Amino acid sequence: MKILIADPIATSAVEVLRKNFEVIEQHFSQSELLNEISNFHAIIVRSATKIPREVVKKGTQLKVIGRAGVGVDNIDVEAATEKGIFVVNSPQASTISVAEITIAYMLALSRKLIQATNKTKDGKWPKKQLMGTEMHGKTIGFIGCGRIGAEVVKRTQVFGMNCLVYDPYLPPEVPAKLGVEMTEDLDRLFRVSDFITIHAWLTDETRGMVGENELEKMKPTAFLVNCARGGIVDEDALYDALKEKKIAGAALDVFTVEPAIENKLFELENLYVSPHIAASTKEAQIRAGLVTAEQVRLVLIGQKPVFSVNAKMLV
Ligand code: NAD
Repeated sequence: MKILIADPIATSAVEVLRKNFEVIEQHFSQSELLNEISNFHAIIVRSATKIPREVVKKGTQLKVIGRAGVGVDNIDVEAATEKGIFVVNSPQASTISVAEITIAYMLALSRKLIQATNKTKDGKWPKKQLMGTEMHGKTIGFIGCGRIGAEVVKRTQVFGMNCLVYDPYLPPEVPAKLGVEMTEDLDRLFRVSDFITIHAWLTDETRGMVGENELEKMKPTAFLVNCARGGIVDEDALYDALKEKKIAGAALDVFTVEPAIENKLFELENLYVSPHIAASTKEAQIRAGLVTAEQVRLVLIGQKPVFSVNAKMLV
C-alpha cells in the first residue's frame, strides 16, 4: 500500500511507515494533489496541505487521512466520513509545547521583555519605562481548560497564581482535581483577571467571543494571550483596546487570516506575536509524527485507530 507524506514529518515516523509500506514524501500544489491522490491509500499532512471535499472525492483508494498535529481545520472531515475514510490525528502531541509558549508569553508581557530587548539593542537604557509586574498572586482567567489549559494551570500554580476557569463543557470532576475555581460568569472573568488565556476551539460559540464589550471589561493592567485559534479574538476590537491602552498588552500566536503577513495590529508595541508556532518544537513534532504514523499504520492493517476524529461516525 502507498502512503503520501504531503507535509514534512519527523524522519523517525517516516522510517516506521517505510518498514511496511511504500512511502512517497512530496509536497504537491493543490491542483497536483487532485491529480495524484487517486494513487494513494493514505495521506499524511500537517497544516499546509488542504484536503477539501474535491480531494477526498478523487481519493478513490484512500482509507485514512493523517494529520500530524491536533487541528483538522484543513481537512473536510464530513466528506471523508461520508466515504468511510478515517481521519486520524495526534491530539496530545503538542499539549506541553503550547502550554509552555503560553507561559513564555505571560512572562514576557509582564516584564516587557520584547520592548526591553529592542530598546537595549537600540542603545537606550530606559529602566523606568520597563517597570514590570509579577505573576505571583495574580488571577489568571481561562477560556477553555482541556488538555492544554490543564497544563497551563499546573505551571501557573507553581508561580502562585489563582486560576479562574470558564469552560461550560468541562467534566464535573476536573476542577477539584486541578484545584481551580470555576465560573459561569464570563463577565466576572474579564473584570477580575490579571491575565486571560484562551484554550478553546474555534466554534460558532467561540468565534468573536473576545470582542469590544469583553475587552472593555478588562483591567487596564491586564494581559490577553491567545495561542488557541484565530477568530476567537476580534482583531479590530483588540487593536483599539491596545492602542487606547484599555488593556496593558496581548500576545497572539494565531490570527483570523493566516499567514498574517500584513496586519494593522503589528504596529503596536504592546502586542507580541508569532506565526502559529506554539506546536513547533522538536519534541512535539517527533511526537506528532510518531503518533500519526502509528494511527495510519493501524488503519492500513485493518485495525481501529486510537486517535480518530471520526471513528465513532464510521462504526
Ligand atoms: P481540548 O479539546 O482538550 O480543550 C478544549 C476545551 O475548550 C475543552 O475543555 C472544552 O470543554 C472547552 N470549550 C469548548 N467550548 C467552549 C466555550 N464555548 N467556552 C469555553 N470553553 C469551551 O483542546 P486542547 O488540545 O487543549 O486545544 C485547545 C486549543 O489549542 C484549540 O483551539 C487548539 O486548536 C489550540 N492549539 C493551538 C496550537 C497552536 O499551534 N497555536 C497547537 C495545538 C492546539
